[in-house]
Amino acid sequence: MSQPVHVTVTGAAGQIGYALLFRIASGQMLGADTPVRLRLLEIPQAVKAAEGTAMELDDCAFPTLDGVDIFDDARAAFDGTNVALLVGARPRTAGMERGDLLSANGGIFKPQGEAINAGAADDVRVLVVGNPANTNALIAQQHAPDVPADRFTAMTRLDHNRAVSQLATRTGARVADIARVTIWGNHSATQYPDLSHATVGGRPALEVVADDAWVTGTFIPTVAKRGAAIIEARGASSAASAANAAIDHVRSWVHGTPAGDWTSAGVVSDGSYGVPEGLISSFPVTSEGGAWRIVQGLEVDGSSRARIDASVAELVEERDAVRVLGLV
Ligand code: NDP
Repeated sequence: MSQPVHVTVTGAAGQIGYALLFRIASGQMLGADTPVRLRLLEIPQAVKAAEGTAMELDDCAFPTLDGVDIFDDARAAFDGTNVALLVGARPRTAGMERGDLLSANGGIFKPQGEAINAGAADDVRVLVVGNPANTNALIAQQHAPDVPADRFTAMTRLDHNRAVSQLATRTGARVADIARVTIWGNHSATQYPDLSHATVGGRPALEVVADDAWVTGTFIPTVAKRGAAIIEARGASSAASAANAAIDHVRSWVHGTPAGDWTSAGVVSDGSYGVPEGLISSFPVTSEGGAWRIVQGLEVDGSSRARIDASVAELVEERDAVRVLGLV
């Protein structure tokens, strides 16, 4: 076996962390031949819970797990790390204004970006899961000037997977027969799950569905509001599916996307599709040679344009709000 890949997970004692760590440790993210060293970052009051999770990780005796280290200091947690999964974030609590939420998260993601800049490995790849994920990723990226900007990403893979699953259910196709679904914009209720280029068994999805009212009246809102529906049903927010999406995102990033298909990820905009340069927005992306590329040349019709613009406008507002706070 090769040298262990160091993977830092923040918010490791949270519910997504609990669903994530065992899958990383068992080789499902980086492969069965790649040993992993887990580095768990938690706030001091959650370190004990993280220690409990580490004991359970030991008890699994995973052949791929090189060891587990626990930290309450970001500089130490990111030192030499290759993959950083930023899961821990400040949740919105009752009565909290958006500015307060962004400010509280700035207090987490600014020092984490600085710590990644100071000590992470040269090949570090960062995935932000903690919400508001796109803007948290932007804050971290802006404080890591020595790390290539394209190493900072935000997770929209769960939205992507939800869209694929809804389309498969509606058409009676298998998930494996669905391709080229796209999530555009922000990981929020304004996101645009787009079927215009999607295919079902090689046929245009919109032709197979043949029901515009379902697309606009059911599909798009179901995907965009799925998180709330899960909280309503389960009494807790989605955790296993969020962890699964994080695993999918990193696996695609490292090992590539299949020929002829793409996935969705929040990546730094290069101005493609009219999304202002520098924003971290979801796009259709492929991964090759360990780097994301935005799929180019897709036709965007008037209704898609309006939906992309609306979600991107929200990202611009969030960026402007954190700019006022001096966070970017
Ligand atoms: P979860 O593990 O359930 O969620 C963590 C973050 O992921 C939240 O910001 C959550 O956003 C976000 N998220 C993104 N996508 C999804 C999704 N589809 N479904 C659910 N959540 C999603 O939170 P817990 O409260 O269980 O755990 C958080 C942990 O983070 C705690 O242990 C806390 O101590 C830790 N923490 C660590 C920090 C650090 O390491 N420096 C800093 C802050 C917290 P949303 O709130 O919108 O659901």
